[in-house]
Amino acid sequence: NLNFHPAGRHFLQIPGPSPVPDRLLRAMSYPTIDHRGPEFGALGLQVLAGIQRIFKTKHPVVIYPASGTGAWEAALANTLSPGDSVLMYETGHFATLWNKLATRLGLKPEFLGLPGIEGWRHGVQAPMIEERLKADRNHTIKAVCVVHNETSTGVTSDIAAVRRAIDAAKHPALLLVDTISGLACADYRHDEWGVDVTVSGSQKGLMLPPGISFNALSPKAIEASQSAKLPKAFWAWDEMLEMNRTGYFPYTPNTNLLYALAEAIEMIEAEGLEKVFTRHNRLAEACRRAVNAWGLEIQCADPAVYSPVLTGVVMPEGVDADNVRRIIYRCFNMSLGAGLGKVKGRMFRIGHLGECNDLALMATLSGCEMGLNMAGVKLRASGTAAAMVYLQSTAEPADRPH
Ligand code: PLP
Repeated sequence: NLNFHPAGRHFLQIPGPSPVPDRLLRAMSYPTIDHRGPEFGALGLQVLAGIQRIFKTKHPVVIYPASGTGAWEAALANTLSPGDSVLMYETGHFATLWNKLATRLGLKPEFLGLPGIEGWRHGVQAPMIEERLKADRNHTIKAVCVVHNETSTGVTSDIAAVRRAIDAAKHPALLLVDTISGLACADYRHDEWGVDVTVSGSQKGLMLPPGISFNALSPKAIEASQSAKLPKAFWAWDEMLEMNRTGYFPYTPNTNLLYALAEAIEMIEAEGLEKVFTRHNRLAEACRRAVNAWGLEIQCADPAVYSPVLTGVVMPEGVDADNVRRIIYRCFNMSLGAGLGKVKGRMFRIGHLGECNDLALMATLSGCEMGLNMAGVKLRASGTAAAMVYLQSTAEPADRPH
């Protein structure tokens, strides 16, 4: 019955798109204005300056009317030439897709990583990158590409360590980083970490619907783009940077998503970017305590790189994670992330990003716990109880009138 609509709101607890706050939906509902008209430039300048603060950069950020995949392509197409060697690192499914995209563009990606499934349970091993770059005496490798928050596994790699590895090898390769699901959830510092291109998207920590994505640039990346030979037109930075100086775009931007972006930046800055990170870390800790209490395994095997964005929950042998998700979807109106690629059916992913708060997380964990029980998974203890104990013992009253 296509008309059937379950009561209450749907719990969209996948690791992006994350639920869009009402405030952003309202901002998006304003009439679309002339993108060449007199009012538009002020909006353009406002969002371009605001998004620089979120990336922690003083350099330009390009905004594309595209999903994250477009921004992935843009980062490569603007900085590299056909046949260039690039060093990529396999943290999971998204690193694998970026690698595939690089091959399709005519690049020669080399895929580093720990063997088998281990690579999908740990962060980027910076010493492996350092060793490989040191061996590349002729500097044939033109870029190092890593995923900051690997959305398929729930692992957040140490980007500063990757920067140090490139510097220790005294290698001139560009550093390209995907923080599509990390931005505005996990600490990220484009300038301080010496990243040349950071790729991100709208539908995760920024809480927007899918549809816009970003390239944050460095002066070195802009210089590389002037001699890079991969074909580019829609993705080309030059006209974009020129037009952006006055807040305009070379082609029709996604005006209504830019309204939402302005509103999202205002919300994030009103809470405080650092407090947004603290909130994500605390919710992630509560979620992990629930998983530990259940007696289930977390996909990320290294506590130093646990993701504040999502938690991957590994099923015991013989349990189909997709069946657990199906039960939860049908009975409790909640969507959880599927296991992707190498971990399909082995795990599911709980998203706790964006506007998520204590009670949204508790509802999410309740749905998981009931669904796991219904699927016949033997749980050691109540995860929801463990999460509540942690949340109540770390709760802080909001700074507002009472
Ligand atoms: N990279 C990461 C880390 C992602 O999480 C995603 C999407 O989930 C992508 C890339 C691809 O982005 P999109 O699906 O917006 O094209």
